[in-house]
Amino acid sequence: MYLRTLNRVRKTVGFRLTLWYSSLFILTSLILFGLTYLFLSSYAEQKDREIIRSEFEECAVQYQTKGMEALEKEVNLEKYVNKESPYYVRLAGKQNETLFLSIPDGWTKTDAERLKNLNIQENKTWTELKVGKGAADTAEFISERLSDGSFLQVGKNTEYRKDITERFKRIFASVMIPVALLGFAGGAFLAFRALRPIRDFINTVRFIDRGTMSARVPVAYNGDELDDLAILFNNMLERIESLINGMRAALDNVAHDLRTPLTRLHGTAELTLQSEADADLLREALMDCAEESQNVLTMLNTLMDISEAENGTMALKMEEVDLSKLIEDMVELYRCVAEDKNILVRVSVSEKLYLVCDHNRIRQVMANLLDNALKYTPAGGKIEIKADLKGQQAVIVFEDTGQGIPAEYLPKIWDRLYRGDKSRSQRGLGLGLSLVRAVVYAHQGSVEVESVPDKGSKFTVFLPAKNFA
Ligand code: ADP
Repeated sequence: MYLRTLNRVRKTVGFRLTLWYSSLFILTSLILFGLTYLFLSSYAEQKDREIIRSEFEECAVQYQTKGMEALEKEVNLEKYVNKESPYYVRLAGKQNETLFLSIPDGWTKTDAERLKNLNIQENKTWTELKVGKGAADTAEFISERLSDGSFLQVGKNTEYRKDITERFKRIFASVMIPVALLGFAGGAFLAFRALRPIRDFINTVRFIDRGTMSARVPVAYNGDELDDLAILFNNMLERIESLINGMRAALDNVAHDLRTPLTRLHGTAELTLQSEADADLLREALMDCAEESQNVLTMLNTLMDISEAENGTMALKMEEVDLSKLIEDMVELYRCVAEDKNILVRVSVSEKLYLVCDHNRIRQVMANLLDNALKYTPAGGKIEIKADLKGQQAVIVFEDTGQGIPAEYLPKIWDRLYRGDKSRSQRGLGLGLSLVRAVVYAHQGSVEVESVPDKGSKFTVFLPAKNFA
């Protein structure tokens, strides 16, 4: 159980990030300590050498200008002043016979013997040797031949320097454990902070998975990329939620609107079956049933067309279409209806206005708009159809002097199966405008409406034009 939890934690991004952060922190601290150590030891060595060199120069000057006595005096003075760490000074003749020797207390006879044979070179050299009784005691020497051929060696214990670097190493070792712990804790904290947005996303998706569609990712509004992601994600959720709600509402409407014709169809069939109907009545009942089922079929086919046009799967047979001819033909079809209602239909379409579109679908769009205008305009009214080219677009307007649409219902008229309250007395399925919009969008166009109740409505369709002028 414990092992399984540990295994799970080990696989988390948070744990891996913590490991990376802390490793990086510890490595950086190690490098920093290492560099400081190198700098400190090389600085201490340089300082030591400067001191030894200066004593060497002093001894050389004293011996060469004032002789052996002056050298002895200088060495004794130095011994007196620097009791803590006296110098080793040896002056040898041309054959390396010792002419003068001053050896610090604590250095053994063996040291003196070894130092006698210390590398005698023409060039100045630095030599580091182990001297004295302590295991870590070392000294550094400078050796140089003087102008009279004698050989001068000056050396000094480097115990003090070693002491500093050793102490530094000890501090480093004792500080490293807290540094590692601090690194790990800092890493864990940073990983926790860095992964907070991811946890917010996971929580939101978890809520949605459990059915709470209204869950959203909290936005920190720092103006960073995570903010952009959270805002985009929330917008996407908003869209999905409204689409789901729309689909639910559409499904409810379809079920509701199908129930009426299907109940009527069922009722007609039942009643006829129960009655002792003769052949004429049976024929009439069958005709009623056929009409009702045709209504249902029309509704289902139109719903399918709308869906296909909306999701881009509608097969459009694109061809060059003369818009003025299309509108004229369509108006001709509705002439009788217009005359029956005593409605004046005026058409003004620019000549040579061509579209590249699916002829039948666009005719259906125009027919739906004209059909609505005729349906919702009282007798004696007027309908005006205008089509013009504006830039790259054909702008087609259907304006009537009909009942109009109240402003609060304007956004709803494009919904599937929506019918205005005042319009229920007219024939219709509430799918005409949904199809208009879906087909126009499928042609990369758009459609707008303006309406004033009791004054009239104006529908404007924008479609990409093919201009041959
Ligand atoms: P319907 O079958 O009801 O005509 P539509 O989708 O074509 O369905 O139109 C939806 C609703 O928009 C109509 O019920 C009506 O209330 C309103 N409408 C559409 N066109 C007009 C118009 N020209 N004048 C007034 N109202 C209209």
